[in-house]
Amino acid sequence: MQFDTVIIGAGAAGMMCAAHVGGRVLIVDHAKAPGEKIRISGGGRCNFTNMYCAPDSFLSQNPHFAKSALARYTQWDFIELVDRHGIPWHEKTLGQLFCDHSAKDIIEMLRGLMQAAGVELRLQSSVSNIEQHDDHFSLTLQTPDRQAQIKARHLVIATGGKSIPKMGATGFAYDIARQFGLPVTDTRPALVPFTFAERRFAEISGVSTPARVTAGGTSFDEALLFTHRGLSGPAVLQASSYWREGDPITVNLIPANDLFDNLRAQRQISGRKNLTTELAQHLPARLVDHLSTQMELSGNLADWSDARLSDLAQALAAWELSPSGTEGYRTAEVTLGGIDTDALSSSTMMAKDIPNLFFIGEAVDVTGWLGGYNFQWAWSSAMACARSIADG
Ligand code: FAD
Repeated sequence: MQFDTVIIGAGAAGMMCAAHVGGRVLIVDHAKAPGEKIRISGGGRCNFTNMYCAPDSFLSQNPHFAKSALARYTQWDFIELVDRHGIPWHEKTLGQLFCDHSAKDIIEMLRGLMQAAGVELRLQSSVSNIEQHDDHFSLTLQTPDRQAQIKARHLVIATGGKSIPKMGATGFAYDIARQFGLPVTDTRPALVPFTFAERRFAEISGVSTPARVTAGGTSFDEALLFTHRGLSGPAVLQASSYWREGDPITVNLIPANDLFDNLRAQRQISGRKNLTTELAQHLPARLVDHLSTQMELSGNLADWSDARLSDLAQALAAWELSPSGTEGYRTAEVTLGGIDTDALSSSTMMAKDIPNLFFIGEAVDVTGWLGGYNFQWAWSSAMACARSIADG
């Protein structure tokens, strides 16, 4: 069997590429269904892009690499595609766009586009023995019922990263890169909850509060969630991409930084009010209870001098915590790192030294923030590859 293009991995990037590349196309996935991560994303509603998508919301050893693909297929292009298919959507917060009904709308749209383009989809199938010849790749395709030798003019690797192995994530892309002599940067779980020794927040698990979380010099103002094992919530997941083992993180529980002024004003009006009662106006009551056992927050407001109130406000604005680790690839939303961008063309995603071999999506060392950025990278990198192949 001979194909113009074989794509390995029918996730977000692979399906988007298959739908737009043209010619005779085969897309292969070892899972039972395509786009499984799309299905579970965004709590089942898929945060499919972000209105404020820009290159500075991505991490990579080469921060310039993503610029070309993101500029040539933008969030507005994907929104136009979604609109054309009549999929209703809404902005939740911070430019994050979600399906009104279900993430399955996005999967069905991509499946429909692939079907219209005559793409052959093989599920529960795998590829091995990939070799490059003068003008094609040869590979062995194993489907549930048979084995076949395949020839492909272009080979696209879209098998994603290592996060959530239970859902079929593998290091396949990195293995293929290494087979062809392409460098792979260190990979690590990202957008992942922190864990702490002795489950120190177990008693307040489920408590959520707005916070500014800082790791590696980068801060995020969003919700923080205390969990049985440690810390989660959007602000923490974002910060995890910038954290390294052994580093502390800083949590500002009063991101508006108005606590000192407020406490002083309240002391003026009702000095006999309990300090913790007043603090519970600014923070969840269970969190105040937890903090009061550690920080001796007893007494009335009148008992607290300006200096003590100022120290307290500062302590709550710069709470330094040392995570013992993260929940790892088991729950990480993405993998940081991947195929070294030095080895790829930023305008086509083709390996610079291996003509007609492409890497797209999360497999590449480009990782977005939480909030629809990672899907936008999948769409944009897939389109860069598809257009380059289609243009011959
Ligand atoms: P994937 O979507 O992971 O697709 C890779 C495909 O390759 C899979 O179908 C897999 O089965 C297949 N595959 C892997 N190895 C092999 C192999 N050896 N042989 C054959 N097939 C193989 N991002 C957002 O922007 N918004 C969100 O709302 C969002 N929510 C998320 C929620 C969760 C719980 C998770 C885990 C991730 C979320 N992400 C979100 C991240 C986003 O899902 C990924 O960045 C995106 O799916 C990457 O697309 P991809 O096509 O590169 O890889």
